[in-house]
Amino acid sequence: MAFEGLADRLQSTLQKIRGKGKLTEADVNEMMREIRLALLEADVNFKVVKDFIKRVKERAIGQEILQSLTPGQQVVKIVHDELKQLMGGEQSKIAVASKPPTVIMMVGLQGAGKTTTTGKLANHLRKQLNRKPLLVAADIYRPAAINQLQTLGKQLSLPVFSLGDKVSPVEIAKQAIEKAKEEHQDYVLIDTAGRLHIDEELMQELVDVKEAVKPDEIYLVVDAMTGQDAVNVADNFNEQLDITGVILTKLDGDTRGGAALSIREVTDKPIKFVGMGEKMDALEPFHPERMASRILG
Ligand code: GDP
Repeated sequence: MAFEGLADRLQSTLQKIRGKGKLTEADVNEMMREIRLALLEADVNFKVVKDFIKRVKERAIGQEILQSLTPGQQVVKIVHDELKQLMGGEQSKIAVASKPPTVIMMVGLQGAGKTTTTGKLANHLRKQLNRKPLLVAADIYRPAAINQLQTLGKQLSLPVFSLGDKVSPVEIAKQAIEKAKEEHQDYVLIDTAGRLHIDEELMQELVDVKEAVKPDEIYLVVDAMTGQDAVNVADNFNEQLDITGVILTKLDGDTRGGAALSIREVTDKPIKFVGMGEKMDALEPFHPERMASRILG
């Protein structure tokens, strides 16, 4: 299960102080050392850990806490609060364009789960939000990416727009939006090309699509199993594309959790959804509050 190590360590650290009637500054310092190590071991970004510890410590050694009758419980609450803030505080919703269709560009590196997630998101829009999405096959380089999206479309009974692999992604995206207007689809999900590594050509192509269609959302799909690499990828894509959100896949695996806890703080962009499996219904809106509760038990 994801976050298992982190959850165990944080829970046992907090357990030690939970029922304490009196808490000294030394107790708080000792606890902070343990939390810091637990976060670093969970592969949370070094600077994120440092700032997090500083914030918790400042609040935890405030006089009203040390002198309170239930200081342990209050410190647990502070850690919970700060974990929630670290992951963005409130749940972040999908944009709705003032004039349909709402255009969402899906970007990411190959293998992150972009095409699968495009299908899942379309399924979510239809099933949970009662919307009519159009899937757009604009990943013209990866062999089989177009087929993969068409297969997903068939499975979900949702339309897929494709012009094959000889037309530019910009042209595909533009024509898809026209088609969606004609057919009254209210969301357009563009599955763009991924590469094995970030390179200039990839970014330029994504920038070109962005400028041509002015998407309402740009979601970066990253693999939670890749830890700090996922955070670096997010930082890089965000710098060049000014993404609007992140979808973190493979959270059903045994990821230590570093990416989920670092991405918001490093990029200042929210995690919108998490992928919890390979099936089309395995996509969940990301709730910082629930995630913090899950980690702290
Ligand atoms: P793309 O190259 O980024 O388009 O990646 P794909 O969509 O082809 O996905 C790569 C692999 O990751 C596939 O085998 C997917 O089934 C798998 N995958 C995607 N999302 C998840 C997820 O949330 N959990 C799990 N376990 N596997 C996933």
